[in-house]
Amino acid sequence: MVFQKIMVLGAGQMGSGIAQVCATGGFSVLLGDIDQECLNRAVAGIDGNLRRSVEKGRLKETEREAIIGRIKAVPGLDAAAEVEMVVEAVVENEAVKKKVFAALDKICPPFTILASNTSSVPITRIAAATGRPQKVIGMHFMNPVPVMKLVEIIRGVATDDQTFNIVKEVTEKLGKVPVEVNDFPGFVSNRILMPMINEAAFCLMEGVSTAEGIDTVMKLGMNHPMGPLELADLIGLDTCLAIMEVLYEGFRDSRYRPCPLLRKYVDASWLGRKTGRGFYLYS
Ligand code: NAD
Repeated sequence: MVFQKIMVLGAGQMGSGIAQVCATGGFSVLLGDIDQECLNRAVAGIDGNLRRSVEKGRLKETEREAIIGRIKAVPGLDAAAEVEMVVEAVVENEAVKKKVFAALDKICPPFTILASNTSSVPITRIAAATGRPQKVIGMHFMNPVPVMKLVEIIRGVATDDQTFNIVKEVTEKLGKVPVEVNDFPGFVSNRILMPMINEAAFCLMEGVSTAEGIDTVMKLGMNHPMGPLELADLIGLDTCLAIMEVLYEGFRDSRYRPCPLLRKYVDASWLGRKTGRGFYLYS
């Protein structure tokens, strides 16, 4: 591994988690966002997580100081000129991601790898917005990032082996397990997970059971650690809906039609934990 510095772009729930694990893995991290408040919240959140780890005896105080010291919040995208790898974690919106990648392509040196944490936008399409499709790749972390071991590494049609191998090595350096996946709608994780969440929303809409009932069936009956509706609230209902739209559009198959109740909640800005209300209410 030749480089030490990574930029994480987007300081929401995923970007802040990715910045935390990159800094814990020894990388210097530039954490960028268009919203200064999100940046402040992200750095405070990471520090809070690390302090809890110190309290629980999982981390030394000197390690906490070193990790937080490796994270520098930067406004906007310009700092991407300094790095050899960018991990993008902005909103799940294809138009926004393409705009961000086109801008990064102009700012970054030609050797910089551009990775996306997208849950569902085709990597091949994001790559086509740049002049370096061979250096564009999917790096799909799971939520919550500091806890979950998996990273799906998605090869776009043009991604080269060198890019794949470097990203695999970075993933392992973060203590995560990489799984190579090809670029099809929803990749593996969301092609299987999201239809289950969507079906749970249909069960709720049709009155088959309550939210608690549906989640309890899946937890106690299927041994899932979280029920599908509480998991949807954690992921964000807007993200869930965006992924279902990608599956529906990508396969043109009615079995992927988003549940109207999911759409209605997103219309109401009931996006889950991040807005205090989704399938459940949060204080
Ligand atoms: P979020 O809404 O919590 O955060 C998105 C952040 O992007 C915000 O801080 C916003 O200010 C910032 N942003 C928006 N436009 C920007 C731009 N042009 N430049 C810089 N920053 C910009 O979203 P999230 O849940 O962290 O999701 C981020 C990405 O990670 C999405 O692509 C999502 O699909 C993916 N993802 C999410 C989950 C999950 O469980 N939430 C899991 C895996 C992957």
